[in-house]
Amino acid sequence: MTASAQIGVTGLAVMGRNLARNFARNGYTVAVHNRTAAKTRALVEEFGDEGAFVAAESAREFVDALERPRRLVIMVKAGDPTDAVIEEFAPLLEPGDVIIDGGNAHFADTRRREQSLREQGIHFVGTGVSGGEEGALNGPSIMPGGSAESYASLGPMLERIAAKAPDGSPCVAHIGPDGAGHFVKMVHNGIEYADMQLIGEAYQLLRDVGGYEPAEIAEVFRTWNTGRLDSYLIEITAEVLSHVDAATGKPFVDVVQDRAEQKGTGRWTVQIALDLGVPVSGIAEAVFARSLSGHAELRAASRDLPGPAPARLDPEAAKAFADKVEQALYASKIVSYTQGFHEIAGGAAEYDWDIDQGEVAAIWRAGCIIRAAFLDRIRSAYDADPALPSLLSDPGFAKEITEAQPDWRDVISTAVTQGVPTPGFSAALAYYDALRAERLPAALTQGQRDFFGAHTYRRIDREGSFHTLWSGDR
Ligand code: NAP
Repeated sequence: MTASAQIGVTGLAVMGRNLARNFARNGYTVAVHNRTAAKTRALVEEFGDEGAFVAAESAREFVDALERPRRLVIMVKAGDPTDAVIEEFAPLLEPGDVIIDGGNAHFADTRRREQSLREQGIHFVGTGVSGGEEGALNGPSIMPGGSAESYASLGPMLERIAAKAPDGSPCVAHIGPDGAGHFVKMVHNGIEYADMQLIGEAYQLLRDVGGYEPAEIAEVFRTWNTGRLDSYLIEITAEVLSHVDAATGKPFVDVVQDRAEQKGTGRWTVQIALDLGVPVSGIAEAVFARSLSGHAELRAASRDLPGPAPARLDPEAAKAFADKVEQALYASKIVSYTQGFHEIAGGAAEYDWDIDQGEVAAIWRAGCIIRAAFLDRIRSAYDADPALPSLLSDPGFAKEITEAQPDWRDVISTAVTQGVPTPGFSAALAYYDALRAERLPAALTQGQRDFFGAHTYRRIDREGSFHTLWSGDR
């Protein structure tokens, strides 16, 4: 087989197949391979007229079809299958070749794989790809890690296939070495969980307190989508809420079981945040909310617990309430992005990655699930001050949150008194209030720790560690 392909894709399920087609549609000759060869043949039969594909039945054929230095994208199930595929291909490669893992790998696995392949002279580029099936085909947001050298050869190709932001710039950037790309993709997904939870809380408040039907809430979301909340997730929320189940004629949302599933990247975001000591309470609440929703037996056993039932507002009051919910949603969204970007900064500090936060915001503006007009604001905030300690320190966001605050507090008070769970809104506000507090009860915590465990404490008026000889000291 002559080496004629500039890029290869192995793993031709929904993501790999569409990514291969995207490369081909952009003028590249693409070698395609899949463990089950029937999928390779099916791709070429169905989409062969979209561009130049080279179908490879075996790993050897696949590698031989690639121009040197070889660039091969692995798009298989994350975890052991990715290791299996690397083990199959690495012995067939040469120093200078590049393996791109576009799956949802844990960044620690990416670090391990990168180090081991580096010893063989092979570049391993752990790459976050967001946008799902549709994005893979028409332009995803791409977050590659790995060496700067590998990005120099790979970058122009990724720029061609990536989504384009409203200003025309491609939604791809070299995030940093080894696992930096997958780390940033992980946080992207954590933020996605938080965004979805906040939208869910807004929906439930509009339904239970506002008394709106799903189709009416869809209209509210459509209106919000013309303003500062303009985003893909708000847009699809309106679509889902206005959808009617064909079998029953009921709103679609009323015939779906209320048990949210998850694949794990949100959980990783929280687990890693705990390891890094970064408070991502809003993202954590979103993960826990999905987990709670899945405890069907616990929920059934708790259904008769006493508490208030929401009293529905009259239509005029409901309209005013909806405006307040928009403020609460927006303020809480600022907080979850603040927490997500803090985690990226924490990861960068821990693993010695020089991550440009403004650039991360810029490449999330299109192609990915959290794409939103709002991200342009975040990019501007980091462009204005790359050392911004927190998004909340940006004068623009600080002003907006100040303006949103009375309504944000009001909505949470209403939720609490009427018994509507809003863990995302509440966690966001608690984070905000904790950050601005002059004194936190952490001083008392330190006293307790010193009391029962002689853990010592620091004083506000003197240097050094102190221990008090408590009367109840053990
Ligand atoms: P998937 O269902 O995660 O994986 C199926 C693919 O993996 C098939 O090509 C399968 O080959 C291959 N595979 C599984 N085990 C293998 C093994 N031991 N050796 C070789 N190949 C193996 O596919 P997907 O949904 O397209 O996702 C691909 C990757 O992209 C995943 O890591 C996923 O997390 C990530 N991702 C997915 C999305 C999404 O929206 N779906 C979005 C972003 C990222 P066979 O055909 O032979 O079974």
